[in-house]
Amino acid sequence: MVNLLIVPAAGMGRRLGRSGPKALAPLAGRPMIDWTLDALRSVPFSRGVVAVPPGRESDFETVVNGRTGVVAGGETRAASVRLAFRFLDPDERDLVCIHDAARPLVSAAETRAVIEVAEREGAAIAVTPIADTVKRVAAGYVVDTADRSSLAAAGTPQVFRADLLRRALSADDEATDESSLIERLGLPVAIVEISRLGFKVTTPEDLEMAEALLRSREARRS
Ligand code: C5P
Repeated sequence: MVNLLIVPAAGMGRRLGRSGPKALAPLAGRPMIDWTLDALRSVPFSRGVVAVPPGRESDFETVVNGRTGVVAGGETRAASVRLAFRFLDPDERDLVCIHDAARPLVSAAETRAVIEVAEREGAAIAVTPIADTVKRVAAGYVVDTADRSSLAAAGTPQVFRADLLRRALSADDEATDESSLIERLGLPVAIVEISRLGFKVTTPEDLEMAEALLRSREARRS
């Protein structure tokens, strides 16, 4: 049994307002994916792969610099993960950790915690509590208010035993995360609460926040 890493990075970051791949967006002097892979360097992965926009493999190979493999991703996130999974071709008992390239402030310690729970449970994902009151809305009005105490925001890392993930991915469904595909099989998914620093960079404001946090972390280190 070994730990393997899949980093979906094939998104084009339209909501960031840029034309290139989001994972190559400059962030505190380095491409975003460089920070993400660096943050995970102390996690014991025996192999990994980054799924990238088709045609951009060589740009990513330069940045990844041998830390993981690089594979052409697909039209959707689920398609990218499917292609990356096929590339890794894990053994049934291996643990596969999926982590978004767009979460450069991921914590290695929290990632190890999610892996530990998945080792026991077969499937575990990182979540954060919802800070805001959540409304269902339609056509410019509030419909109702959700019970926040039973809600959590799902992020990555998400870690699954390879046999379960293989079944989930073979369903050929679309989903915004891999946990949804496991849930559809009726399998339990354990949760591990992580810090809000694991946020996903989606908008230009997120990029600004990530930049400020990384720069202040670097300044404290030097
Ligand atoms: O678009 P969103 O921010 O939800 O994407 C989450 C992650 O999935 C990003 O790291 C993005 O690069 C990746 N992705 C992918 N293949 C796609 C779309 C998104 O690997 N076709």
